[in-house]
Amino acid sequence: MMKIFICPGCGRMTAASRKKEVNCSRCGELPMERAKLTFEKFTEMDEQQRNDYSKSWLYIHQAGKKCEK
Ligand SMILES: [Zn+2]
Repeated sequence: MMKIFICPGCGRMTAASRKKEVNCSRCGELPMERAKLTFEKFTEMDEQQRNDYSKSWLYIHQAGKKCEK
């Protein structure tokens, strides 16, 4: 089963079937995080929708980090 991963550094999204960690090819060793998105949903999305998803994911992620401090 394919899972969707998103990079917390640049917002790049990718689908991977491997269970182990996925690293962003753009950011080097930065581990990507699981996105709460099914593979079916991801394939239905066009580029604009993926950009929007990535932007809001990064916004929420960074907002969460700020709250922890
Ligand atoms: Zn990245």
